[in-house]
Amino acid sequence: MRINIIGKVVISLTILIVSSSPFVSKAFNDGDLINDHGTIYTIEFGAKRAFTSLKIFKSLGYQLKNVKSGDTSSLSKASNISSALTRHPRGTIVNDHGTLYFMGRDYRYGYASEAVYFSWNSNYKIVVSINAADLQVPVGPLSEMNPNASSTSQSTAQKNQNQQTNSTPAANNSVSLDPTSLASNNIFVINDDGTLIKGDAVDDATVAKKFYTLYPSRTDYDFLNIFTTSHGSASVEHHNIINNGVTGVGGPQTVSDGQLPSQLKGINVLNDTYSDKNVNPSQISNDLYLISHETGHQWLAYIGVAEGISDGVHYTKWFDSSFVRNGQIWGDTMGGFAWKDNGNGTLSVLPMQKQAFSPLSLYLMGFLPVSSVPDLKLVIPANSQDDGYQDVKGTLKTIAISQLISTYGVRNPSYQSSQKNFKMAYILVVKSGETASQYQEYLKNINTITQDFPIEWNSITNGVSTIVK
Ligand SMILES: [Zn+2]
Repeated sequence: MRINIIGKVVISLTILIVSSSPFVSKAFNDGDLINDHGTIYTIEFGAKRAFTSLKIFKSLGYQLKNVKSGDTSSLSKASNISSALTRHPRGTIVNDHGTLYFMGRDYRYGYASEAVYFSWNSNYKIVVSINAADLQVPVGPLSEMNPNASSTSQSTAQKNQNQQTNSTPAANNSVSLDPTSLASNNIFVINDDGTLIKGDAVDDATVAKKFYTLYPSRTDYDFLNIFTTSHGSASVEHHNIINNGVTGVGGPQTVSDGQLPSQLKGINVLNDTYSDKNVNPSQISNDLYLISHETGHQWLAYIGVAEGISDGVHYTKWFDSSFVRNGQIWGDTMGGFAWKDNGNGTLSVLPMQKQAFSPLSLYLMGFLPVSSVPDLKLVIPANSQDDGYQDVKGTLKTIAISQLISTYGVRNPSYQSSQKNFKMAYILVVKSGETASQYQEYLKNINTITQDFPIEWNSITNGVSTIVK
């Protein structure tokens, strides 16, 4: 936790910098095998693909000992793996008579040596036998040494395995984006002058001040999204509230000290989450979750700490934040689960199809009238330390929104007068000496985000809120 150094804190003792949820898809690497409530998935391009049977899982050579338990509710679902005759997904390492290949999207990449293999991977247990479909995938160039690996830093090596590229110098990379012409798309490139990246982490307050120094007329942004071309281990994606005069949502009220424009509400620090030049475009769409989540922290999820609804930053595990949309069970972008009363004194979570803002969140954001918020459901576990998700002993308690309002006050401004349209800047902070051609891929991904995010935001706010150009 850091203290907001831009805004003057009116109500103190509140977390102003809120890190991203534990359910961020960045936590998963392609090739990971995850057991989520009995379904085994592999991760590919940041989305999850379910094995339709254990038989198919095993026929593809995978072993249960390499499966980790995890919560994949934040991940989009990609197609199921329903045949053992298909090629292994991206991220699997296959063995062809002693030669190991990393399965990429378009190619399989051999390892030049054992040292190269162990710069990316921690063991051989994850290797599976190559199959006939894999053999149809052409062999690409040899995988190079992971530049970030060291013999003592296996976790770094694993993290960076995500960056192992399967890209080729494809024709569609030939279109180049001119940084100076991107301002009309609300994209800005700022060179680090030595003050913007401190240690491992980008200094968002300094970046914001630099931005308004360089672009003094661009004071109409509600949110600044800050991206980088590198990701320090100490840098966590987070949201920083700059101006927030909203009452009745349980969160902090802050006002700017005048060093930043009054229009600016908050800053999302997103690091290289999207700008990673090796991220597949489909993964960018999946990861739009994070920008929604961090923006949500402008208002959420602060209400109901005493009641057990929030832990002060996110909805708790015990809060049923689920709702039905398009005939499916969806969960809230800010946490919580879909809980089902089993009718025998126990409760279990149900799988959720997608995350968006629930009616409670939409009310707290000023996007729905309070009359649209149904009664809230909260699990009261027999054992509050229970870390289970299935057949948890406990009861389901109902809390009316009127009860919360009597404690925390009515949301003000009201739904009728609240702001619903927001303007965002997308700022790429590049390292001193980095050239336009070096950060071209990052810019292209950010350009994709500027096109995709407004659609995503409008969808997850149920069509009420808009990101304007
Ligand atoms: Zn968060």
